[in-house]
Amino acid sequence: MSVYRKFRISHTAFCIAYPASLYIVCNAINFEKLAKWFPGKDGLDYLSLSAYLLAGLCLFTAFFTLLAHRWTIKPLAILLTVASAAATYFISKYNVAVDGSMIQNVLHTDPTEVGQLISLQMIPYALFLALVPVLLLLRVDIGFRPSGRYLLASLAVVVITISVAVACLYLNRNSIQRAGTISNKYIVYLLVPVNVVSGTIGTAAHALAPYLSFHRRPPEFSATVTSPGNLVVVLAIGESSRQKNFGIYGYERQDTTPTLREIEGLHTLNGIASVASTLYALPKILRMNRITLPAIVAKAGVPTACYVNYTLYDNCATVGETRVTHCGHGGHCYDEDVIPLLSANLQAYRSGYSFVVLHLGGGSHGPIYRDRIPPEFQRFEPTCNDADVANKCTLDQLYNSYDNTILYVDHVVGEIIHVLDGSGVPFVFLYLSDHGESLMENGVMFHGMPPGVPLPEEQARVPLIVKASVPISIADRAEYQQPDVFDTVLDLFSISSEKFDRAGSFINLQKR
Ligand SMILES: [Zn+2]
Repeated sequence: MSVYRKFRISHTAFCIAYPASLYIVCNAINFEKLAKWFPGKDGLDYLSLSAYLLAGLCLFTAFFTLLAHRWTIKPLAILLTVASAAATYFISKYNVAVDGSMIQNVLHTDPTEVGQLISLQMIPYALFLALVPVLLLLRVDIGFRPSGRYLLASLAVVVITISVAVACLYLNRNSIQRAGTISNKYIVYLLVPVNVVSGTIGTAAHALAPYLSFHRRPPEFSATVTSPGNLVVVLAIGESSRQKNFGIYGYERQDTTPTLREIEGLHTLNGIASVASTLYALPKILRMNRITLPAIVAKAGVPTACYVNYTLYDNCATVGETRVTHCGHGGHCYDEDVIPLLSANLQAYRSGYSFVVLHLGGGSHGPIYRDRIPPEFQRFEPTCNDADVANKCTLDQLYNSYDNTILYVDHVVGEIIHVLDGSGVPFVFLYLSDHGESLMENGVMFHGMPPGVPLPEEQARVPLIVKASVPISIADRAEYQQPDVFDTVLDLFSISSEKFDRAGSFINLQKR
């Protein structure tokens, strides 16, 4: 008898046993986070919670069975196991909501960010939820009944599981819907691997939409400058920097903005972000009616450039972004490395309109804040240097770490303004952040909320700083929304287009 003998199991039994094992193990780990959304008279509403969990299991089983065929069953099971282990770990450790935007962020994340998220606590999850189950899966010998007869059994499994799921959801619809509403759909985002599957399907549908539908292509449009003049508009976009910790916005814990404080004629406005994921926040500033701001400005004949640290994704289409190169600090690029590109652009400027987008994409992004700024800006001590900020760091350390990033934003934005002032070009400069950041206020950390959930104040309020070398007046408003910045840039260049009305513009150039 060979030592490599495998475990034998029929296809039908596997389609029931595998989803059930995965589902029970992963959700048992984060059971309390889910259960708390089903409060009852004396503790928990066990009936609704059980019905919800059973419905989730049945739907997952039906999904798996539909895709589980001779050549797909094992790769699918392995993929789902590894993805579920990762989702379980991040829910357990960071309370994240696993939805479509999270899946997209995973696909767009750069290697340094992944490195920062890896910690020792990940090992038991990787070992017991991923490695051991995958080894077991590889040893399983799944028996298929011949000539496609297994498909009949699959059909039976799918029909029965979907019927049970519908019955569970229907009979408890009020309490499950209530739990869904008060948790803002967290009960879905927490349920492994239902969250992974639905998030992936949503992401795939979103990514494929442009290819499947003719309508998703950017529409045709016209854009013309109606009133030519001489002006350079520089729009700098930051990352995760919240208004609350800027000295020039009244933060008093320590002086985070010594450079900007000294600059005269600085306008500090109350900027408001509406979503807190970079992927969705950048288009709030740079995109409208599926057309990018650089594309419109360029189409109107204004020379346009985007200089980026990290990436603006495709929000600089059709102009194209220029990434920082030849970085100081031993080749490690920081936000300041966009400045030489700006300087060269300004030196080439002679007259007319010109538009420059700067992406300060390092900004104040966690979880290890010090990695986004040069060592010489680690001035506020002691700092927090563990990705597990919620458990391993004091609030004092966390604030110091975050404040150091604001100190660096102050340096970079101040330097940009000095370069503009020194160049002698007529300019309007705007800086704003894509969204803010929570630092354990009400137990919330980092940024990102499921769609439809209002942002906490710390994530919504962003710095919006304006400086000009030409006379301007600024419309007096309590709040300045990100799309208003879009309108303002078009307005500064007097760009007229049938697609855009510039109604949100808040800067007026004063006639001299
Ligand atoms: Zn961001």
